[in-house]
Amino acid sequence: MENCYECGKGKLTKKLVDYKQYNVLVGKYPAEVCQECGEVFFGSETVEQIENKLKEKNLWGLGIKTQIGTSGNALDIKLGKRLVKFFHLQKGQTVLIEPKTTNRFEVEILKVRKF
Ligand SMILES: [Zn+2]
Repeated sequence: MENCYECGKGKLTKKLVDYKQYNVLVGKYPAEVCQECGEVFFGSETVEQIENKLKEKNLWGLGIKTQIGTSGNALDIKLGKRLVKFFHLQKGQTVLIEPKTTNRFEVEILKVRKF
């Protein structure tokens, strides 16, 4: 058994672990897990499998760079097709925008009851 690549102390044991991206379950994959610190290590073949699954499920590379545009007197940020699909966004939907720091904000999609 090998020692943990992260903390150097714990022993690594083979386990099947849930892999989540953006809090969405992608699948269970074989990994080595540290008994001390809990760090999870995937082999390069597994990483490739996970990447392929993420691409298949539209969960790959959703973080994008975009530019601020104008809309009348206001500014707007365009969301690409993939983000629209991921969040199931529709025109007219209400979102809550909240500053987190001086250069970061969070957008929460408010759940609206459908009648
Ligand atoms: Zn460790």
